[in-house]
Amino acid sequence: MSEIQNDAVASVHYTGTFPEDGEVFDSSEGRDPLTFLVGHRNMIPGFEAEMLGAKVGERRTFTLEPARAYGEREEANVVTFPRAEFAEVEAEVPLEVGMTLVAGMEDGPRPFTITEVRDDEVVADFNHQLAGRSLTFAVEVVEVRDATEDELAHGHAHGPGGHHH
Ligand code: ZN
Repeated sequence: MSEIQNDAVASVHYTGTFPEDGEVFDSSEGRDPLTFLVGHRNMIPGFEAEMLGAKVGERRTFTLEPARAYGEREEANVVTFPRAEFAEVEAEVPLEVGMTLVAGMEDGPRPFTITEVRDDEVVADFNHQLAGRSLTFAVEVVEVRDATEDELAHGHAHGPGGHHH
């Protein structure tokens, strides 16, 4: 397999920036390349769509609007909790605006960011931190290979840069 397509395992170096000001929000620079199984919802949708057909050594730069990245921000995802529910956390560390925590919900763990700490309440934002943002990615394809049967069965890549288990 020599180009990015569904059921391939792709390794890429990437740098993500905000198109408004060029600020870098994430980059694989200085780390292992990002390795992912293509076509199994491991990546935000626009990223894979823009990289389909790319060959090893190829570089692509593209900008994704929120709908093809982490979605729009939704006010319904901003929730106010009684501060008492954070008693266990506060016993360990002071609550601060910008702190990221994980809530155990019925449908599994969900990360959130504290946006306000009041005397008796805490405001938690469950939106992804990149929701509502347009994102520019500069990507270089490092390696493309066939997925193994195990990887296809699990729905994710194994080995360096992928899942270890
Ligand atoms: Zn696995």
